[in-house]
Amino acid sequence: MSSVPVYTKTQALAEAWRCLQCFDAPCIAACPANVHVPRFIRMIRSANWASAAEGLRSANAFVSLCGAVCPEDVLCRYKCSRGRLDNPIDIRALHRFVTSSVPPKIFPEWPRALGPQVAVVGAGPAGLGCALALTRLGFDVTVFEKESRIGGIPSMEIPRARVEQTLQDDLRAFAERLKIVTSKPIYHLADLQKFDAVFVAVGLGKTARLGIEGEEMTGVESASSFLRRTRENPSNLTDKRVVVVGGGNTAMEAALVALEAGGEVTVVYRRRQIDMPAWPEEVREITVGGTVFRFLEVPVRIVGEAGHVIAVDLQRQELGPVDESGRLTPVPTNDSPIRLPADHVIIAVGAIVETALFAELVRERGDHFVVNEKGESSVLGVFIGGDAVHGEGTIVAAFAEGRRIGEHIAEFLRKT
Ligand code: SF4
Repeated sequence: MSSVPVYTKTQALAEAWRCLQCFDAPCIAACPANVHVPRFIRMIRSANWASAAEGLRSANAFVSLCGAVCPEDVLCRYKCSRGRLDNPIDIRALHRFVTSSVPPKIFPEWPRALGPQVAVVGAGPAGLGCALALTRLGFDVTVFEKESRIGGIPSMEIPRARVEQTLQDDLRAFAERLKIVTSKPIYHLADLQKFDAVFVAVGLGKTARLGIEGEEMTGVESASSFLRRTRENPSNLTDKRVVVVGGGNTAMEAALVALEAGGEVTVVYRRRQIDMPAWPEEVREITVGGTVFRFLEVPVRIVGEAGHVIAVDLQRQELGPVDESGRLTPVPTNDSPIRLPADHVIIAVGAIVETALFAELVRERGDHFVVNEKGESSVLGVFIGGDAVHGEGTIVAAFAEGRRIGEHIAEFLRKT
């Protein structure tokens, strides 16, 4: 993801005046939160920073965070019509400019509390998006987060502490109706009986395993553990030859962190480059940094010495029939495995919902939760959303989904 420039007023005005104010603005349709981009840019043109910031925050309460981490290269900026003339508008930099110039407005007077209490489990983007929507609609909300920090947002762009600070700043305006309880894991609906409705937004807590020999060895770890460790203390990485297994954004983030720490990084992916789920910008970034890619190969064994990884055996693949996801399935060839020396193996082959979490709710193939279009689960009054339903997505899409489900929860509570 490219870094966001920090504009001065003059630069923000100059960029805003490049906007074509398109009649059918494709940037609006490309934004998962449906931010009315040309309108807020018009406000910047007339130096009306406060209205621009207010308009953005009412569409997405966490716009200051999205201004820093949103993948605009695959969303609004990618679709911007100005790109057909010269360069697309730097929408994220304009977001960042207005939201960092104007602090969030504290609501002068809250409507009387409506009575019903809602519990939200998980203080990631979907959970917080839902909590804020309900708070605005007059409901009291308690958010339970198992970690000591809110946010649940991995980011190469900004450190975790700043993610949390940015969210806390945005949440101050809602403090009267919103209670956040951290370091409080909730595993069962029975723990939430006093609430009138529940929103489960627990994300994807557990990294999927490769299921091969040697996976328990020292030097083999999940991308989430690696990123957590290195974020807390960047000097934690000393291994030279790092092998990252996976082709998604988390794999790219792990590869970038390892590269920046001086590692010689190889990314192993079981399909072709064109099939990688990672955003092209992320792939470009680590390619420039010197990462070696090995496509159509799968680890079949981790080799160790005295309990520590020293190599990975890779099996060559070829593409077979189309699978359920519509992609060609990799199938092993008859070639002998290739031995790739490694001091450190990072596994980033996707994440799954912890099986112990809310076992009373119906899941699809034992993994993702099953819901209807309103986010309603198999239990009345219990709604689910975010990555625990759809798999890994963007932060802005999770905020927007949380907000949408929050409106359905309000409708449900008004009827009961
Ligand atoms: Fe402005 Fe680009 Fe949106 Fe058109 S697509 S309104 S030029 S930001």
